[in-house]
Amino acid sequence: MSALKYALSLLALLVVSTWAEERPVSEILWEANKDVVRTEDEPYVVDDIAYDNEMERNADPCTSRGCMWGKSGDGKIYVPYTVSSQYSSRERSIIDRGLQSFSGFSCIRFVKRSNQRDYLSIQSLSGCYSFVGRTGNSQTVSLSRQGCLYHNTVQHELLHALGFNHEQTRSDRDQHIRVLLQNVQSGMQHNFNKIATLNQATPYDYNSVMQYHKYAFSKNNQPTMVPIPNQNAVIGKATQMSQNDITRLNRLYKC
Ligand SMILES: [Zn+2]
Repeated sequence: MSALKYALSLLALLVVSTWAEERPVSEILWEANKDVVRTEDEPYVVDDIAYDNEMERNADPCTSRGCMWGKSGDGKIYVPYTVSSQYSSRERSIIDRGLQSFSGFSCIRFVKRSNQRDYLSIQSLSGCYSFVGRTGNSQTVSLSRQGCLYHNTVQHELLHALGFNHEQTRSDRDQHIRVLLQNVQSGMQHNFNKIATLNQATPYDYNSVMQYHKYAFSKNNQPTMVPIPNQNAVIGKATQMSQNDITRLNRLYKC
């Protein structure tokens, strides 16, 4: 290969990877999860949230059973984790960067598990998903090597594990978005159920990494969510956690 060709292919790689990193999290999740077939060993999953059973899916486990990780004497929240050996070193570094990012803006510290009872088991299973909040014992966070390994998806799934739901299911969402169920694919309407979420007095945030884009689960290329009052407002394009995501996390855990 000539030097020029080599340089061009490097440039193309850079453009593609930059582009991918800037894709909104909800598009990445949709793409990664749309055709997955889960195995019997995997939990019951709706969209990208895992549940112990089907009955739980309309509740916020943080209000129904408690979901928080415990605070240590030094004021930090240590969340133990393991990472499967299936990942390459490049993939592993994306996961590590996501885990470590929390120490830059919160009291959350993801730490390698030694013998703690409750921990996150990060694995490449079918698609991207997590339970909401601490479930007790080992809990799976699936970050599939096929499509889930981006900074924003790692942060998104970890926020689920720390106790947060999607922005569009927030208890106060009807003041900020109008959900158009008539445009939602059949069988997907439950993704827009409102939940008694813990909003921590933070405003509804179109730029949250937990907010889906306007066309999420659309069956007809028409929007499924329209912002109120400015229907042209940009929603669901976050490429990383917003300031509100950070504030809400810090308030929940009293960092
Ligand atoms: Zn999610």
